[in-house]
Amino acid sequence: MLNKLRLLTPGPTPLPERVRLVLAQDMIHHRKAAFKDAMHEVQGKLRQLFGTDQPVLPLAASGTGAMTAAAHGLFAPGEKVLVAEAGKFGQRWAEITTTRGLETVRLEFPWGQAVEPSAVAAALDADPAIKGVFIQLSETSTGVLHPVEEVARITRDRDVLLVVDGISAVGLSPCPMDAWGLDCLLTGSQKGLMLPPGLALLALSERGWRKAEQTASNCFYFNLPKERANVLKGQTLFTSPINLLLGLNASLDILLEKGLEAVYAKQWALTMLSRTGLAALGLELFAPSHFAWGITSVRLPEGVDGVEVLRIAQEEHGVCMAGGQDHLKGRIVRLGHMGWVDWSDVLAGLYALEQSLHRCGGYSGARDYLEQAMAAYRLALAGTAGQPLPDGRIRS
Ligand SMILES: *Cc1c(COP(=O)(O)O)cnc(C)c1O
Repeated sequence: MLNKLRLLTPGPTPLPERVRLVLAQDMIHHRKAAFKDAMHEVQGKLRQLFGTDQPVLPLAASGTGAMTAAAHGLFAPGEKVLVAEAGKFGQRWAEITTTRGLETVRLEFPWGQAVEPSAVAAALDADPAIKGVFIQLSETSTGVLHPVEEVARITRDRDVLLVVDGISAVGLSPCPMDAWGLDCLLTGSQKGLMLPPGLALLALSERGWRKAEQTASNCFYFNLPKERANVLKGQTLFTSPINLLLGLNASLDILLEKGLEAVYAKQWALTMLSRTGLAALGLELFAPSHFAWGITSVRLPEGVDGVEVLRIAQEEHGVCMAGGQDHLKGRIVRLGHMGWVDWSDVLAGLYALEQSLHRCGGYSGARDYLEQAMAAYRLALAGTAGQPLPDGRIRS
């Protein structure tokens, strides 16, 4: 088939032409003036995106590199931390903190559910030795949006740092770091930021920086205070991922052009489009109440082979979607709507899924699923224009 390949995955994601053209340019030198000027521009835009007055550090790494840098830079072996988890990436936090030698308390919730802030508060009350909470804003393995703003209300009045993996949320749903009181927010380039993989971004709060300055890191490559000193000079500690940073300058222009509110309104509308279309196809939404704005996950009917569904969608319709991880492999489909993706891509995803399900014996939904989905999209766009956005709950 001669279909266009559409990446409706939770990273990597499609790239805007404006960004691709910048990525294609020849190298400039990372210790010279032109690059420093671009870095200072990027810095101002990144602070808007993160909602912080603090520097945002670029790191040459995938998102997991920033997670590693946070755990190593903020805590020393033997310190006690809590990981609030409900999925694959929550588990990753616990693996990283354990590797760093932190005494790790795991607060686990079933996959598909959100972390309950009251349980975090109870765990912190029960054990004042806990000095940090690690959480995802969007748990990509399930499509759940954790109530991080509420968790921050609990940590910010205590001597507890809140470390947030925003890898599948930054640039997709609101995460104003300073206003919410997050101590660390980090992301990667290949999800909401419309860039190839390989660049991670990390910011700390004021008290996060105080803690980082007191913490002796045993990691040569990730050194947050030294990296900050370089960022303030328009530099990075080691050789910069030059084309990714110049590409970031262009992708941030796209994100900030009409304001972040417009970006979030679009993401909310795409989320409503996806959820409505998938439900009309007769599929059960996997994250019923707290759902991410960059990915929608659905459970497949019993007996339908999810691996085969995804194979047909890609090979016959050109739409690449993600399946489940671990015990959810073959059981769920995750439709990504992040990066340079618009309504027509999501419609293509719904159609490819309907056709593939049909072939696999799992289609029982409405025939007018595309019309239903578009109606929800139009309503969401109209409803969010100029208004503050809800934090992930369906409007009634
Ligand atoms: C993608 C993702 C990661 C992993 O990022 P890499 O770039 O693959 O290292 C971690 N956390 C979340 C929430 C993600 O979506």
